[in-house]
Amino acid sequence: MSRQLLTTDVVIIGAGIAGLWLHRRLNDLGFHALLLENGEIGRGQTLSSQGIIHGGSKYALNGILSKAAQVISSMPARWKACLEGQGEIDLSGVRKLTEHQLLWSKDRLSSKMVSFFASKALRSRMQPVKKGNRPAIFTDKAFKGALYQLDEPVLDVVSLIDELVKPWQQRMLAVPPNADYQWQPSSGPVSTLAIGDQYEIRAQQFVLTAGEGNEKLLQGLPQAQPQMQRRPLQMVLCKSKDLQNPLPVIYAHSLGSGSKPIATISSHKDQHDNVVWYIGGNIAEEGVNKSHQQLVAEARELLADILPWVSLPELEWATHPVNRAEPKQSNLTRPDTAFISSRDNLHVCWPTKLALAPDLADQMLAALESANLKAGEHDNPDFPHPGIAAPLWDRAFT
Ligand SMILES: Cc1cc2nc3c(=O)[nH]c(=O)nc-3n(C[C@H](O)[C@H](O)[C@H](O)COP(=O)(O)OP(=O)(O)OC[C@H]3O[C@@H](n4cnc5c(N)ncnc54)[C@H](O)[C@@H]3O)c2cc1C
Repeated sequence: MSRQLLTTDVVIIGAGIAGLWLHRRLNDLGFHALLLENGEIGRGQTLSSQGIIHGGSKYALNGILSKAAQVISSMPARWKACLEGQGEIDLSGVRKLTEHQLLWSKDRLSSKMVSFFASKALRSRMQPVKKGNRPAIFTDKAFKGALYQLDEPVLDVVSLIDELVKPWQQRMLAVPPNADYQWQPSSGPVSTLAIGDQYEIRAQQFVLTAGEGNEKLLQGLPQAQPQMQRRPLQMVLCKSKDLQNPLPVIYAHSLGSGSKPIATISSHKDQHDNVVWYIGGNIAEEGVNKSHQQLVAEARELLADILPWVSLPELEWATHPVNRAEPKQSNLTRPDTAFISSRDNLHVCWPTKLALAPDLADQMLAALESANLKAGEHDNPDFPHPGIAAPLWDRAFT
C-alpha cells in the first residue's frame, strides 16, 4: 500500500497544551503547521491539570523567590491579555473558573510568615482577604486562620482546548495509536517522517510536543537527545452523592507548617452539573503507589483536618494516577522553565507547566525564525482529524 503524501512547513507531534498553542500560533502567523495526535486531544497531562495559571507565589512560600517564581511571574498577565481577546491568541471564549485563587491556613500564621507575605516581593502577588470579602466557606466563626488571595486565575481547560482546536482543526491529523515513526534520512536534518504505511510527511521543521510520548519518539532517533523524567502524582477527586447538596466551589491552597501547600483544591462541574473537587498538592505527591482505599482514607482525614468547620455531604471518591513528563533534572527536582532542545531541524519540547505554554511557543518561534522557516504553498487534502478527550470529571469515577 502506498503512503499518502502530505507536505507542510512544520510538523508538530502531540496535541497537549504545548502542541496546540504552538500549532495555533504558527498557523495564525501564516505558516502551514500540521499537528499529529495518536490518541485523543488533551488526554495526556493537559486534561489532568488543575488549570491554574501560576504566577509563582506557590514556589515562593519557602521565603525564597526562586528562578521558577521569577520566570513564571509574567504568565498571569500574559494569559489575561489572551482571555480578554487582546493577546497573541484570542481566548475570549475560554471559561475562567476564578479570577483569584485563595491560600488559607486553618491556624494563625507565625509572625515570620505574616511579615514575609507582607514583604515587597510577595505583597503584589498575594493580599490578605478582609473579613467582609470572604467567600461563604471561610465566613464561619470557627475559622480562625489566615486567608490570602493570590493573583492567579484558574481556567476551564476543556474550553481552553476547544478554543485552541477550533480555527485550525483541519490541520490536525489523527495518527494510528501504535504506528511506527521513521525519520528520513537516518542522519542529519530530517526531510520526511513516514508513519506506519499510512503517511509520508515532508516538512522544513519537526517539533516534538508529545509529553510522556517524547521518550519513545526520542528512542527512534539516532542522535543523543535530551532525556526525560517522570514525576508521578496520584490526584484525588470527590463529589457529593446528592446532586441537591453539592460541594461548595473552592479554588485554594491549604497551607500547613511547611513551604508546600498540603493540598490544592480546584472545583469543576461534571456532565450532571455536580461540583467535583480535584485535589493535588502534597497529598497527590505522597499518594503515588498507595492503593485507592488508602489514599481515599487519607484524603477524608485531610479534609476533616484542613476544613474542620465545614460539614461535607456524603462523598463519592476517585483517584487519578498521572505522570508529569519533563526534561531530566538532577535529583528529580522540578524544572524551572519551559524546555526546548534543538538539533538540526528537530526540536524537543516540554512546557513543564500548562501556564508556560505561551513562553514555550515564543522560544520555539524564535528557534524556527533563526532556522529561516519560510511559509510554503501546501494542499489541504482529506485526512482524519483527532477527537477531543472527555473531561476528567466525566471519566474518573467509572
Ligand atoms: C495532575 C496535574 C496537574 C497539573 N496542574 C497544572 C496546573 O494547574 N497549572 C499548570 O500550569 N500546570 C499544571 N500541570 C502541568 C501541565 O499539565 C503540563 O505541564 C502540560 O499539560 C504538559 O503539556 P504537554 O502538551 O507537554 O503534554 P501532554 O498534555 O501530555 O500532551 C501530549 C500529547 O501528545 C500525544 N502523543 C504522545 N505520543 C504521541 C505520538 N507518538 N504521536 C502523536 N501524539 C502523541 C498524547 O496523546 C498527548 O495528547 C499539571 C500536571 C498534572 C499531571
